[in-house]
Amino acid sequence: MIPPGSTIGLLGGGQLGRMFAISARKMGYGIQVFEPSPNCPTGQVADAEFNAPYSDIAALQKFAANCDVITYEFENIPVSVLDQAGKITPLFPDASILHICQNREREKLFLRASNIPCAPFEVVRSAAELASAFDKIGFPCVLKTADFGYDGKGQVKFKERPANVEETWKQFGAPAGVLEGWVNFSKELSVIVARGRDAAVSVFPVSENIHTNHILDFSIVPARIEEKIQEQARGLAIEIAEKLKLVGLLAVEMFLGANGELIVNELAPRPHNSGHYSFDACVTSQFEQHLRAVCGLPLGSTELLSPVVMVNILGDAWQNHPPHFDQLLANSNVKLHLYGKTDPKPGRKMGHFCVFGPDSEVAYQMAVELKKVL
Ligand code: AMP
Repeated sequence: MIPPGSTIGLLGGGQLGRMFAISARKMGYGIQVFEPSPNCPTGQVADAEFNAPYSDIAALQKFAANCDVITYEFENIPVSVLDQAGKITPLFPDASILHICQNREREKLFLRASNIPCAPFEVVRSAAELASAFDKIGFPCVLKTADFGYDGKGQVKFKERPANVEETWKQFGAPAGVLEGWVNFSKELSVIVARGRDAAVSVFPVSENIHTNHILDFSIVPARIEEKIQEQARGLAIEIAEKLKLVGLLAVEMFLGANGELIVNELAPRPHNSGHYSFDACVTSQFEQHLRAVCGLPLGSTELLSPVVMVNILGDAWQNHPPHFDQLLANSNVKLHLYGKTDPKPGRKMGHFCVFGPDSEVAYQMAVELKKVL
């Protein structure tokens, strides 16, 4: 066990790290963050911030030597960096799990090999492979880069076969991709699961996610779906965590298909935007649960204290004037979180708010109105 009073090292210094650090500090832990850009959201609430590129092995070793356990909040960290840090200080979730989840090809192959339902896909490394993948998958379909894709970046949707597949592959520009069949989903869902060092598992309520321009806009909890499907979704998340031998937190994004079937889309071994609601609305938040798991503490209750809707606040909200936070907070059922970022660019996640309601539907209607007030 890594007891309270110990020091946690965090690779990556964004808002996920910031909320993790706040939870860790509440329980008396120290926090050191390693992040290439200075004055990061996590650094503002950490005991120490190491600013160096992930390739700076000397800085990384110094950082690791200062910590009792290391974890990460960012997926695009080279696995070699985790391996280096892990040689000095215990690191969770294991680097092998990030290796799978940070690359769509490995992630899909893992899901297929584990008999977890996912969209039909073909791995593509050349124009010829793309041409044959179009034949096998059919249309509509979506081509996604294997590496470094998020929030819909690095994705091209095809409604029909492009006239020149050679040219399409050239324009795609990535060395490898995954061509996926388009899923006619009725809802997008996510489930966050934690697994402790003693193999205990704990799963959060299902979140129903509404995206706008590929970026999460609203998370509605509990999801407006049948109880039976919620249980299936939670069961799938547990199955994946066990297959990965996870220690820490894993977010599982899913589609609910037109016939009520669940299809897993993506995995992220870290706190997730769609779990922010838990910071205000659960007995134990996703951030505290992650902390408990990596420190070898007993996992906490994930009980939902109230139906809740989380709304992301993007830089767009600053476009004409600063957001009307006073008017938002005039509603006594609202909790506001801002991440300490000073440059509100369109599409940049600046903060979020949560609205509590008597049920998911009412909370969602309130959230839609409050977003307009901002
Ligand atoms: P991803 O980066 O894989 O999470 O994809 C971003 C968003 O694109 C998802 O949240 C969906 O809204 C949409 N999307 C991705 N893959 C598919 C698919 N195979 N079928 C339908 N929609 C998809």
